Amino acid sequence: RAKSNGRNALQRFTPDLGKRADERLALSRRMRAALANGEFRLVYQPQVDLQTNRVTGVEALLRWTDTELGPVSPATFIPIAEENGLIVPIGEWVMQQACFQARVWQDTLPGLRMSVNLSPRQFARGDILRVVQRALARARLSPRLLEIEITEGALMTLGALDVLRALRAMDIDLAIDDFGTGYSSLSYIRNFRAERLKLDMSFVSGIGRHREDEVITRAILSLGRALGFKVVAEGVETETQLAFLRRHGCSVVQGYRFARPMPAADAHAFIRDFNEGAIVYG
Ligand code: C2E
Ligand code: MG
Ligand code: MG
Ligand code: MG
Repeated sequence: RAKSNGRNALQRFTPDLGKRADERLALSRRMRAALANGEFRLVYQPQVDLQTNRVTGVEALLRWTDTELGPVSPATFIPIAEENGLIVPIGEWVMQQACFQARVWQDTLPGLRMSVNLSPRQFARGDILRVVQRALARARLSPRLLEIEITEGALMTLGALDVLRALRAMDIDLAIDDFGTGYSSLSYIRNFRAERLKLDMSFVSGIGRHREDEVITRAILSLGRALGFKVVAEGVETETQLAFLRRHGCSVVQGYRFARPMPAADAHAFIRDFNEGAIVYG
């Protein structure tokens, strides 16, 4: 895997933008059908709080298996859905489904938080607040249990700050995703109070291998702490990475080291066992 994966948005999206126009069109058609036929699924990846050594939340991640193409990665289909606008109805489905699941889990895993990714295009729409409110109301989920993840790119879109303030006023937590790879200036971080910064996996994967990645990781952890954010490390795969993050005061970790994204039933069993102390190292 290229070390610079995810470091630079342009680089990351090159393969997708490079797909031929007819391929993108074919994918768009199949995606539209997939939405109508209920072929999208959510999987859930546990987030482990390093202070308490408990799973305190999950991130909902979208999955799509096409009957002919097989599994299609979100890294491929989300950018196309952004481009053709399908991300709006797909995103509504994701929000509703994630809220229902979070509500179901409250009975056996009280306080478990649900993080949902929102893409820039969803923010550009005036009805995003209503979409979120409706999903919460239908699921009878407390807004305190919902967290919305947005990238730095979405932060920079016109009107985003108003939307984010409104979400905060509704008591919904915000996380800045892929932190350190986008284009936001630090003044945005100062003006706009998110609860959490998600340190991008591209830095985490360099821990123990590249000094620059360790320096950047430490800097983001200390910046986050000084400004009152919790820092969540993404893509933690090894014991070395985990030990480094712990030593430098990282609050929460998410990654294959503990658990992959899983269907709801598997995620539930994992979280229950982990929080009962039955799983020490994942
Ligand atoms: P993201 O929000 O930054 O999600 C984290 C990605 O890292 C996920 O990829 C997850 O499966 C992967 N990951 C987590 N731990 C590890 C690890 O230890 N090692 C490795 N190699 N990977 C790890 P995934 O599920 O393929 O999603 C990719 C991106 O697609 C997401 O990045 C997000 O930007 C987007 N996405 C996924 N689901 C949704 C959705 O429901 N709505 C929107 N708007 N975007 C979504
Ligand atoms: Mg995310
Ligand atoms: Mg991320
Ligand atoms: Mg990412």
